[in-house]
Amino acid sequence: MATISDNLQAVTGRIAAAARACGRNADEITLLAVSKTFGVDAVSAALACGQHAFGENYVQEALDKIAAVRGAPEWHYIGPIQSNKTRQIAESFAWVHSVDRLKIAERLSAARPPELPPLQLCIQVNIGDENTKSGVAPADTAALARSVAALPRLRLRGLMTIPPPTVDSSRQRSHFAALRELKTQIGNGGLPLDTLSMGMSADLEAAIAEGATIVRVGTAIFGDRRSRQ
Ligand SMILES: *Cc1c(COP(=O)(O)O)cnc(C)c1O
Repeated sequence: MATISDNLQAVTGRIAAAARACGRNADEITLLAVSKTFGVDAVSAALACGQHAFGENYVQEALDKIAAVRGAPEWHYIGPIQSNKTRQIAESFAWVHSVDRLKIAERLSAARPPELPPLQLCIQVNIGDENTKSGVAPADTAALARSVAALPRLRLRGLMTIPPPTVDSSRQRSHFAALRELKTQIGNGGLPLDTLSMGMSADLEAAIAEGATIVRVGTAIFGDRRSRQ
């Protein structure tokens, strides 16, 4: 069985190769290790290999891990956000990728403790998937971004998407290109953003080719989750 260390090396190699293939510097791309459903031991093993940023989807599971993991990694919340969980998220995470409503951003802003740096934020956009309700519609993204950028205690960094799964790499790329173009449009409108959170285990190459600055990778690092959920 491949170890977390082997898997991390393989994923880092994929990121480097994908960056090279499109003339980008791999240093511009942050690997977010998605540790949902995996325990403290798995996070600690990845940390020991130098992995710094970890993504979590479930608040209570994440809080237990955050309390137990030693070595202070950077925690990113990437899951659906219920209003009654915004305080816990604002108190315990460095980043949130999955904001798709102003009300949630307002609650995160109000709850971010003053002694912590601003909460780093991405807006989740629903690119190309009619079957999911998560994510703001592309047409409404610029207005939401302007409202979120005006809130204190938050720093709007960019956009995130989970496109519909497909093995067709040209379809993967067209979804990621749509998110990149939306970021450019918002920048042209006077709100420069520096982050595109896109690409997972199965499609990180396509995402990097279209400008991803954070790839969120779970399965390729920690293994299959199906038997665990
Ligand atoms: C689970 C999850 C990932 C990781 O997906 P893999 O296919 O396991 O790499 C990335 N982003 C989000 C939002 C997720 O929920």
